[in-house]
Amino acid sequence: MSETPLLEVKDLKKYFAASKSIFKKKQTFVSAVNGVSLQIKKGETLGLVGESGCGKSTLGRTILRLTPATGGEVIFDGKNIGKLKNEDMRQMRKRMQMIFQDPYSCLNPRMNILELVRAPLDVFNIGTKEERVDKVKEMLEIVGMGEQHMMRYPHEFSGGQRQRVGIARALITNPEFVVCDEPVSALDVSVRASVLNLMNQLQERFGLTYLFISHDLSVVKHISDRVAVMYLGGIVEITGKDELYHNPLHPYTKALLSAIPLPDPEKKADPQVLEGDLPSPYNPPTGCRFHTRCPHCTERCMKEAPVLKDMGSGHQVACHLYD
Ligand code: SF4
Repeated sequence: MSETPLLEVKDLKKYFAASKSIFKKKQTFVSAVNGVSLQIKKGETLGLVGESGCGKSTLGRTILRLTPATGGEVIFDGKNIGKLKNEDMRQMRKRMQMIFQDPYSCLNPRMNILELVRAPLDVFNIGTKEERVDKVKEMLEIVGMGEQHMMRYPHEFSGGQRQRVGIARALITNPEFVVCDEPVSALDVSVRASVLNLMNQLQERFGLTYLFISHDLSVVKHISDRVAVMYLGGIVEITGKDELYHNPLHPYTKALLSAIPLPDPEKKADPQVLEGDLPSPYNPPTGCRFHTRCPHCTERCMKEAPVLKDMGSGHQVACHLYD
């Protein structure tokens, strides 16, 4: 893994306009991503975890400019992608791809596997007709599908096979960076490991860099080099995988880790139950956004938002307990 960051995200924000009611004259906004900064090195996998609705997928889409950012910068291989003009951005899309959570909903049911996997080559006008078909055959072989499936349709496959097709399509333009948005969450537990192993093998083979989004800490542990924990639009902790799982600092990370089921539940030392639901991003708590659920909350926490601080060796945490 190279030490140079391939991707640098600086103070990225994404706000959505909330629907206006007749009683409210002023437009209000929902801050789905609230000033996120992070770096991902070339060849690295950064896991991004947090509860559903915390803004993980919006962050992934904003990084890829599938949805425009409200503020901040995304620097990919030295280029500020927010400033790229249409054709430059189109070319950049070959290098930055996405694997989606639900392979069935992202594959057009009227297209066969050949057409689906070939589509990015058609869009970017890469290769001749024959070369495109050869490339599809090669990619299907690489993801463990085989060319005999090329004329079949998505409904004829299992969830795991459809995700392999989705992976083949995402990788057919030889991207360097892939946002994997809950790629195994919709799959049966029995096929998750094989898809994760495939993704690991593809990373090694093609030198890929992943942002791996999941709500499941045990899945992220399997694939990540570092892990970022997200809560209500912001990163609350980020560090190496082993450090996070053995020495979590933020109360939210500790609660998430203690919720992972163990084979022998009696061995669990100090279960920390996370009280209540994730607050609404329409009306986020003041100060530390986690304070409504935190067992260590003080008056300061309700007023002042903590910022990410480096606790040594790149272990960053946003919590007043560590000031
Ligand atoms: Fe809890 Fe305060 Fe730390 Fe927020 S800043 S996580 S409320 S102790």
